[in-house]
Amino acid sequence: MSFSQLGLSEKVLSAVAAAGYTTPTPIQQQAIPHVLKRRDVLGIAQTGTGKTAAFVLPMLTMLEHGRARARMPRTLILEPTRELAAQVEESFAKYGANHKLNVALLIGGVSFDNQDVKLTRGVDVLIATPGRLLDHFERGRLLLTGVELLVIDEADRMLDMGFIPDIERICKLVPFTRQTLFFTATMPPEIRRIVDTFLHNPEQVEVSRPATTVATVTQLLAPAGREPHDKRDALRRLIRSESGFKNAIIFCNRKREVAVLHRSLVRHGFNAVALHGDMDQPARMAALDQFRRGEVKLLIASDVAARGLDIPDVSHIFNFDVPHHADDYVHRIGRTGRAGKSGTAITLVTPADRKAVDAIEKLIGRTIEWAKAPPRPEPQEQPAREGRHRPQPAHDARHRPAPAPRRPESPNAPQPAPAQIARIDEARPPRRQGHARDRGVDTSGHLPAFLFRPARVKA
Ligand code: AMP
Repeated sequence: MSFSQLGLSEKVLSAVAAAGYTTPTPIQQQAIPHVLKRRDVLGIAQTGTGKTAAFVLPMLTMLEHGRARARMPRTLILEPTRELAAQVEESFAKYGANHKLNVALLIGGVSFDNQDVKLTRGVDVLIATPGRLLDHFERGRLLLTGVELLVIDEADRMLDMGFIPDIERICKLVPFTRQTLFFTATMPPEIRRIVDTFLHNPEQVEVSRPATTVATVTQLLAPAGREPHDKRDALRRLIRSESGFKNAIIFCNRKREVAVLHRSLVRHGFNAVALHGDMDQPARMAALDQFRRGEVKLLIASDVAARGLDIPDVSHIFNFDVPHHADDYVHRIGRTGRAGKSGTAITLVTPADRKAVDAIEKLIGRTIEWAKAPPRPEPQEQPAREGRHRPQPAHDARHRPAPAPRRPESPNAPQPAPAQIARIDEARPPRRQGHARDRGVDTSGHLPAFLFRPARVKA
């Protein structure tokens, strides 16, 4: 089947051809004709299936007629995270290259004023996270009574993030007669209830069994000790010894762990950035851009921040923590092996994780093999001792320094392939007990040496 058989407009077809796509993906083949017939659609599909274009392309076709009025968006797309919202905006820029549509992004972490100016001009496509949308609505800056089409994307993630009450509220603020497109990777009972309440006789399209893992991803388990520093050791050895390593997203369960692991990897000379929900929006976007452009090789992320991200060329996923929810495992490893490419996903497993691994294996319907040759232990967690320079500050990882030749931490430690990881700085200060960095204090600036001496604290 070709795109021209789906009923899309000429403008859209030429933008699709310019993007280099020749064949619609299964979700596009199934969903687009229903959307163009103005039917409600329930799409059960995970990211990586081409589902964004499945709603963006017919929306562009339909929006060619009619025009926007001030403060009354014609269509509304709800996304659970700012990154996903920004990604959908990029899709409109790509596929809408031949259209003159006003697209606005309402996400948290950036100024209200610019968003307000756009709303006043009139918006054809409003892409929003639920919280910021309701903030604008409550300020009286936005009317939702002109919405002809509502897209609720990544609905199961909205559920995980506690957005369902917001979604229900928004569904009641848009006209009853609107068209609704609803996408979810899984169908838990709460999502079923929302579908039954807010969709009118929807066409259901399903492209793969919910929660299946991508066939192009090699999945492995790797043993790790109980202590966090054991896990960090194991991770570093894995990164250094993996063949075909190009870059990796490393997932942690908690934001705090993201920050700690990021600092540790940078201290050990890895070229890494962090991405978690406590970072402000410009910092999140900057981290993602650096990773996308290949300026940094490691992105350490929490689930929320990394959900659904479309980064075409990720060779490895490391689960530093086994995810609490088996569903998250599927989403995490779906960040690699995209668009038919192969990828590797390695999960570090401590003795306490056995139950969580069982739940994952049950969900994906197969057992995950252990990595064949567990890497040899490193003798020490701390970086080399005799350096005179302090490490580059974590947030400076984006200024990629010239890779320095690296001395192995032990004679037995595996050597990285030369092009694998850019080292930031070979020489580092000694790490002592009670060091400010160990207590989570930011030592990224230039601090006098006496601050690095161990301090005695009175009880
Ligand atoms: P999504 O599931 O929307 O996150 O899309 C996953 C990736 O597939 C994105 O990088 C899209 O650019 C790409 N894509 C979407 N539609 C097609 C298509 N018909 N052929 C090839 N790649 C596509």
